[in-house]
Amino acid sequence: MENPTKKIVIIGAGTAGIMLSNKLVKHKLDVTVIDSSEVHYYQPGFLFLPFGKYNLDKLRRPLSKLINKKVTHLRDRVASINYSGNSLTTESGQEVGYDILVIATGTHIDASATQGLSGAGWRKNIFDFYTPDGAMALREALQNFTQGKLVVQIMDMPIKCPVAPLEFAFLADDYFRKRGLRDQIEIEYVTSLSGAFTKPVASSKLGHLLTDKNINIVADFYVEKVDPEARKLICYDGREVNYDLLVTIPVNAGADFLHNSEIANELGFVEVNHGSLQSTKYPNLFAIGDAADLPTSKAGSVAHFEVETLVENIMRSINGQPLEESFDGHSNCFVEAGGGKALLLDFNYQTEPLEGRFPFAMFGPMKLLNPSRINHLGKLAFRYIYWYMLLPGRKIPFIPNKMSIKGKKQPKIS
Ligand SMILES: Cc1cc2nc3c(=O)[nH]c(=O)nc-3n(C[C@H](O)[C@H](O)[C@H](O)COP(=O)(O)OP(=O)(O)OC[C@H]3O[C@@H](n4cnc5c(N)ncnc54)[C@H](O)[C@@H]3O)c2cc1C
Repeated sequence: MENPTKKIVIIGAGTAGIMLSNKLVKHKLDVTVIDSSEVHYYQPGFLFLPFGKYNLDKLRRPLSKLINKKVTHLRDRVASINYSGNSLTTESGQEVGYDILVIATGTHIDASATQGLSGAGWRKNIFDFYTPDGAMALREALQNFTQGKLVVQIMDMPIKCPVAPLEFAFLADDYFRKRGLRDQIEIEYVTSLSGAFTKPVASSKLGHLLTDKNINIVADFYVEKVDPEARKLICYDGREVNYDLLVTIPVNAGADFLHNSEIANELGFVEVNHGSLQSTKYPNLFAIGDAADLPTSKAGSVAHFEVETLVENIMRSINGQPLEESFDGHSNCFVEAGGGKALLLDFNYQTEPLEGRFPFAMFGPMKLLNPSRINHLGKLAFRYIYWYMLLPGRKIPFIPNKMSIKGKKQPKIS
């Protein structure tokens, strides 16, 4: 299917925008991607930066090397969209028309959304690791932290990579053990969720791991405000948690131009049909990746599994055919567990993480839901798959877009 006359505009050249643009040009479409960034970061690597693994130069590449030369890259930021007029305006004042618009603006942390968070303690004893600067500043803080209470804390859901804070807690346990400091450092995991994770089965498994590592969990904790002088988190129900060093995942928000817009929810995530990724308001508007309001994880793997559905549906839309509702919410997440091991979670909208093997039901080699060395090596190797296969839009062999339940079984929860 070819149609050179239709103009597809993608806002955001992150994981989803790069993959999608590289796939769409293969269909000889006129594709423009708008993003002011010159570089792209491999965000899963941010997890390791605070612990001295990797340097930033291993995690970033110029966008010019990642986006196909046939794609027009407009270096600007989108300020507003005229949905009924099929055009948008950038921050520099350019007006850009489109036939089909895809929103791939991801999510970003908003520390200013919580009273006291971005005040006196920010980057002194309060840190994030969801940004390159935050992760590097935290590296130094961890090096200087030799005793006291480390709190790893999630403000509210949804956040991107909901397992990343847990992984951080597990790796912190490892890091301080190796430095012989673990007995002097208390680690507490404070979350707005009722357990360790969003899915009950995985939550139980991951909760046990926290206990095994002597990491206390404080659940259902919705922070009303942070008192940076007293170094306290204060919950809406009056509970308080003290910290010496706070590693927080602030509220994750959608792009500014989506806030209070007719196409997005109150957090600025675009409301789409869960199967087709088409906006519930405008038929020529789609969203992909973290920018979409979907009941699955905000993760690079999800963006990857969504891409096939979106390419197919853009072609169908151009050709006046009914859309496919083929995206099943598939998510596939490695969870670093410390000790050189990782778990692998595989789930979708309907199915909780199952036990078994991945990607081959009989041979694996990855083990689902249980820590193993091969999973950890898989997580590390994924950086290469990301740069050389995923972003260029190549098919990753044996990894199906839809979740397969072949050979998998429901685990027993205790
Ligand atoms: C610490 C950490 C660990 C993670 N670990 C994993 C993991 O192990 N596995 C996994 O699958 N995922 C992981 N993720 C999540 C993964 O990185 C994201 O889900 C993925 O990058 C989402 O892709 P995206 O394209 O939707 O958003 P992004 O990659 O964030 O890209 C969004 C792009 O939109 C641009 N943009 C925003 N606003 C505008 C605007 N107004 N105009 C123009 N452009 C705009 C931004 O500049 C950016 O380039 C992790 C994330 C973090 C932070």
